[in-house]
Amino acid sequence: MLGAFVSLGRIFLDVVFPRICCGCDERIIEPRRIVCSQCERTMRPLRLPLCPRCGAENSPAAAGEKCRSCPGGEIFFQAVRSFTVYEGPAVAILERLKYRARPQYADYLAPLMVRALKSLYRDVAFDAMIPVPLHRTRQRERGYNQAELIARSMTRATGIPLLANAIRRVRPTPSQTHLDRRARAKNVRDAFLVSDPALIAGKTLLMIDDVCTTCATLNECARVLRASGAEMVCGLTFCRASLD
Ligand SMILES: [Zn+2]
Ligand SMILES: [Zn+2]
Repeated sequence: MLGAFVSLGRIFLDVVFPRICCGCDERIIEPRRIVCSQCERTMRPLRLPLCPRCGAENSPAAAGEKCRSCPGGEIFFQAVRSFTVYEGPAVAILERLKYRARPQYADYLAPLMVRALKSLYRDVAFDAMIPVPLHRTRQRERGYNQAELIARSMTRATGIPLLANAIRRVRPTPSQTHLDRRARAKNVRDAFLVSDPALIAGKTLLMIDDVCTTCATLNECARVLRASGAEMVCGLTFCRASLD
């Protein structure tokens, strides 16, 4: 009975507020979607071979080597992997999630991220997930941290605990958009602090973020986590952007 009401409610909402696909702007008929199934199929996985370290696609790097997308300087994470490339509907989804007040989109991304986690990190048992934090000024403006919402939803699906406040962004950093690899690494240097090293020590951790390009931010988070005694730190992002 309740189910029928919920379905009726959904049909009613769809009539009054039709849901429009982020990718093609057509109306979506399938329930609980923000892109239509056709657009969802265009969100492709990264092309192999991946850089063993940063997970960039089409990488010629061998184990122990860096590729041209790897962060500058020393690398502190074990690996970073991404669900899809930063193009097509994925760009529109993240733009709406971050800049057009659609926090609920995190619940759509989380199952896709869980799928990526299970296939790309099938041999790793993570003790906890850590969302990449925003500076408090940015978080106040936005009202939420999209990485935290994604991680929170992934926690519910996987049972992997969430350490939402394990690291803090103590320095606001300008947008990385127009910076090259070296400048990105410098831009985030010393931007993060571990709040409680006791939570981190000896743990195998998975950092969660919406997008990465040179992994400079993830690398800086990994640096402070490792300095606080983390055993191993990996990263998973929804999208992978490239510098060119
Ligand atoms: Zn579509
Ligand atoms: Zn790389």
